[in-house]
Amino acid sequence: MTEQLVRIENLKKYFPVRTGVLSRTTGFIKAVDDISFSVNKGETYGLVGESGSGKSTTGRVILQLQQPTSGKVFFRDREISTLNSRQLHAMRKEMQIVFQDPYSALNPRMTVGEAIAEGLAAHRLAAGRGLQEMAISVMESCGLSAYHYSRYPHEFSGGQRQRIVIARALSLQPSFVVADEPVSALDVSIQAQIINLLKNLQEKYHLTYLFISHDLGVVRHVSDNVGVMYLGTLVEEAPKKEFYAHPLHPYSKALLSAVPTTDPLAKKQRIALKGQIPNPAAPPPGCRFHTRCPHVMTVCRDTVPLLRTVAPGHSVACHLV
Ligand code: SF4
Repeated sequence: MTEQLVRIENLKKYFPVRTGVLSRTTGFIKAVDDISFSVNKGETYGLVGESGSGKSTTGRVILQLQQPTSGKVFFRDREISTLNSRQLHAMRKEMQIVFQDPYSALNPRMTVGEAIAEGLAAHRLAAGRGLQEMAISVMESCGLSAYHYSRYPHEFSGGQRQRIVIARALSLQPSFVVADEPVSALDVSIQAQIINLLKNLQEKYHLTYLFISHDLGVVRHVSDNVGVMYLGTLVEEAPKKEFYAHPLHPYSKALLSAVPTTDPLAKKQRIALKGQIPNPAAPPPGCRFHTRCPHVMTVCRDTVPLLRTVAPGHSVACHLV
C-alpha cells in the first residue's frame, strides 16, 4: 500500500514587489499560488514546467528554506511549516536538496571530504576517525573513490561534482531529497549516468524524491507521478504512464510535443507556444494559460478552471476537459 511521506496543502509563496525610496510594497510575485499534492514514500514525484513556473520555489518552501506565505507542509504527517529553528534543524537531516549547478553548490576552499564531513559533524552523526570513514563510505556509494577525499572541487568534471553534491546530501541519511534540475547543467552524455545513480541510490536507501525539471524526457525516466506547473499553479497531475499516454492539458501537450523521440517511425507534430510565460506579478485573469493556449475560449478569459479529477490519480485544470 502506498504511504505518503510529504504532503502540501494549499501552499502559497508570494514575494513582495517593493518600489520607491521608501520601499513600499506595491504588489506581489505569486511564485506559488495555492497548490496541493503529495509524494509517496519510496517514489519519485516529477514536477515539471518552464522556467518561472514556480517549481523550484515549491521545492524550497517544502524544505522550509523559504517560509510559505500560507498553506501547510506535512512530513510523515507532522506539519513542519510551524516548527521552530531547533526542531527544524533536527528535521533538516531528513530532507535534503541537490541543486542544479554543481559548480556553485560546492565551496571551492573545502576539500570533498571536508564538504561531506561538515554536515555529519553538524548533525553529530560521527566524530574523529568515524567522520572520515562515513564520508568515504557515502562517496563510494556515489561512484567516487577514497582518494578523492582530499581533492578540491576544481579538480573534478561537472558530472563528478554532481556526484559530490549528491554524496553530501546523502551523507545525512535523509529519507526525502528534492532534486532541483540535477542534470540540466551537465552534458547530455553525463546526464544518464547521474540519473542512473539517483535511481540506484533510491533503491539502495529507499529514498523519496521530488524531481524538479523542465525536461519531460528526463522526468519520464525517473518519475512515478508527474505534476505540471504553470505560473505558480498545478495544471495537471497524473501517474507517469497515464500522463505520457493521455496528457490532457494543452500546456502539457505542448511540452510533450517538444520532447525528442528516438523512434524514427513516430509521427510527432510540435505544438509551438506563443510568447513567453507571463509576469507572475500580474498573472492573466481566468485561466493563466489563456494568453498562450491554442484552444482558448471566451470562458477561459474570466473563469479560473479548477483542478478536477478525471481518472484515478489524474487531475486537470482546463475548461475543455
Ligand atoms: Fe486553454 Fe481554456 Fe483550457 Fe486554459 S482553460 S488551457 S485557455 S482551453
